[in-house]
Amino acid sequence: MVKVIPSTHVIYSFSPDSEPVERALPGEIVVFETIDALGGQVKDEDTPLSTIDWSRVNPATGPLYIDGAEPGDTLVVDILDIVVGNRAIIVTIPGTGVLEYRDFRPRVKILSVSKGLLTFNNIKLVSRPMIGVLGVSPSAGVIPTGTSGPHGGNMDVAEISRGARVYLPVFVKGALLAIGDLHALQADGEICVAAAEVPGRVTIRLGLVKGKRPKLPIVETPSHIHIIGYGEDLDEAARKATEVAVEALAKEYSMDFEEAYMLASLVIDLKINQAVDPAKGVRASIKKDLMSIDSLLN
Ligand code: CA
Ligand code: CA
Repeated sequence: MVKVIPSTHVIYSFSPDSEPVERALPGEIVVFETIDALGGQVKDEDTPLSTIDWSRVNPATGPLYIDGAEPGDTLVVDILDIVVGNRAIIVTIPGTGVLEYRDFRPRVKILSVSKGLLTFNNIKLVSRPMIGVLGVSPSAGVIPTGTSGPHGGNMDVAEISRGARVYLPVFVKGALLAIGDLHALQADGEICVAAAEVPGRVTIRLGLVKGKRPKLPIVETPSHIHIIGYGEDLDEAARKATEVAVEALAKEYSMDFEEAYMLASLVIDLKINQAVDPAKGVRASIKKDLMSIDSLLN
């Protein structure tokens, strides 16, 4: 029987103190039901954003305890399926987003999602369901679900979609995995601070690599490997992702730093995940035929 974690079990921060709501073994398939990033508080376009309880945004369903996962391991999460609701929300919040310095109004827009298409006014867009928040507990302390780091969290990487495999470092026994913040569609950067925020259902398969782990979260797609950097600004996020990428190239090809640094200029693409949340995100992307996952696990 596939385990289902209902969206009534949510956390607002990743922490070793979070009580697990379910347990599963590596190899098991688990379904996470999620509510939208605004906590389901926006009912329609007339909902005043001033009525939102901001302590209830960015909920992540979980945490799930993975038997056998120990500090130093890698948790492997295969995204088997993402089914999103038929109604997405997008908002503008004054003082936020890439153009946070502009004078603009709070605004709510409801977008319909139907048959794989998202409708914005009369513009039809192909929906690409993805997971904004996917993370594990840090070794100590409390990390709000609205930010990102080595533990994953609010990465907002469009490639964390159906068919992707995510590698996360395990910091505590059981890993304590939680998932939330689904988007029916999000472009790189998440410019206005929100994407097409939807509730949904994520089906994953768990895996575990014992005794080694990545320095940063890794996302593997059929064609690419993405190293997920984070930072106070985009420069720092780019540096973090690049450090790991250059180190992995040096390991993969037994090169010294200078050669790996040069090769990085030729084969690594730096892309913006999101430019708006407390931690900004940049990923270093490389074609899979040029790097093995093993070079990223230590
Ligand atoms: Ca997000
Ligand atoms: Ca979001």
